[in-house]
Amino acid sequence: MPVTTVVVVGAGHSGLAVSRHLTTASIDHVVLERGKVANSWRTQRWDSLRLLTPNWMTRLPGFAYSGDDPDGYLSARQVAEFVAGYAEVSAAPVMTGTAVSRVRPVGDLFEVTTNRGAWRARAVVLAAGLTTPSLPPVAAGLPDDIVSVPAIEYRNPDRLPTGGVLVVGASASGVQLAQELHRSGRPVTIAVGEHVRVPRQYRGRDILRWLDMTGILDERWDQVDDIVRARNLPSMQLVGADHALDLNALQASGVRVVGKLAGIADGTLQFAGTLPNVCALADLKLNRLLDTIDAFAGGKGERLDPTVVPPAPLSVSLTSGEIRSVVWATGIKPDFSWLDVPVFDRRGRLSHDGGVTAWPGLYVVGLPVLRRRRSTFIDGAGADAADITAHLAVHLRKIYAQQVRNTLKPAGTDIR
Ligand SMILES: Cc1cc2nc3c(=O)[nH]c(=O)nc-3n(C[C@H](O)[C@H](O)[C@H](O)COP(=O)(O)OP(=O)(O)OC[C@H]3O[C@@H](n4cnc5c(N)ncnc54)[C@H](O)[C@@H]3O)c2cc1C
Repeated sequence: MPVTTVVVVGAGHSGLAVSRHLTTASIDHVVLERGKVANSWRTQRWDSLRLLTPNWMTRLPGFAYSGDDPDGYLSARQVAEFVAGYAEVSAAPVMTGTAVSRVRPVGDLFEVTTNRGAWRARAVVLAAGLTTPSLPPVAAGLPDDIVSVPAIEYRNPDRLPTGGVLVVGASASGVQLAQELHRSGRPVTIAVGEHVRVPRQYRGRDILRWLDMTGILDERWDQVDDIVRARNLPSMQLVGADHALDLNALQASGVRVVGKLAGIADGTLQFAGTLPNVCALADLKLNRLLDTIDAFAGGKGERLDPTVVPPAPLSVSLTSGEIRSVVWATGIKPDFSWLDVPVFDRRGRLSHDGGVTAWPGLYVVGLPVLRRRRSTFIDGAGADAADITAHLAVHLRKIYAQQVRNTLKPAGTDIR
């Protein structure tokens, strides 16, 4: 069985950033990837997707966007090329086509089982991404004759039947897909729960430039008031283009806005009556954020109009033929079903403290707000990988020091 010091699971940008730091620290490792490098960007993104972060934020340790459009937004294909280019210039030791099916502790090592044999390692870094749709329980009640597609499986409007579409969720994915489907000529309804409304531009700058300049993106996970909530917040209502995309823009183009999908019973979609509340809350938080930016910059910028709350139906029949398909833009989550280490909380979520699990030598990267708000983006991977590699190096030094002590220990004595 091959032995290495560190196994990194996943060759997305997070795993590769860790690999880069491990190489710099001369720590022997391998990156195991079930598909190709940047697999998620090749297989789990819709055709028209563009990053919502501008190109100047597409930067990793020792590698950054170098084109002539720093304020533009990369397509999914361009992100895949960027990440693959990073693997190449880093000479990352990636084994593609290698799916990890189990990670378990064996003594003070880990055994990592794959479809191409097993590895032993002193430490494991999980960089396996968010690759599973997070569907609400109501999804199970959808009748079989309605086409049901999670956002990461959606590709383009042509793959859906003609006729009306319900998009569930109004974060970045939901508003983008509602816009695209509406432009394809379909009647679109969007079901809106809690969402995060931001302008694309504020006071002449991209909103992400403001979040960067004000230090908001650098707020640390251990300083955030409610880290569980911060990690589960919906993504910002943004599109990788030079225009705002919010509920007002969608309504102006003819998309029907309804409340959160609360139930499906007897062939009827039921929507919550909370639309006015969630819109008011989103507007309140939007203005608080802009107040923070104004306090930083001085003066005051022009604000977005409040969200228009339409008189929305509380139910829509699925038997009328009005809705032919449902797109679930309700989030994505990691899949650690292959992780056989007791590091999960009561709700089955991986427990970690800034990427460090309670099991010595087991780390995770690439999750939202992992060590700072910036961790949610490609731009956060560099600093997170540096921190995690530093922690891991200390862990390895402790193990080696213990080994030396054990080697030097004369029989029958106990050196401390
Ligand atoms: C719709 C969408 C839009 C996004 N937009 C932006 C954006 O605008 N800006 C931005 O900065 N970021 C964006 N992100 C990316 C987000 O930053 C990343 O999803 C997140 O940071 C995780 O990156 P990662 O490298 O950890 O994971 P991924 O890129 O998902 O890589 C994980 C890798 O692990 C592999 N893997 C998983 N399980 C196994 C296994 N068992 N064995 C072997 N290999 C395995 C996968 O094949 C994959 O290649 C977006 C993501 C999504 C889904």
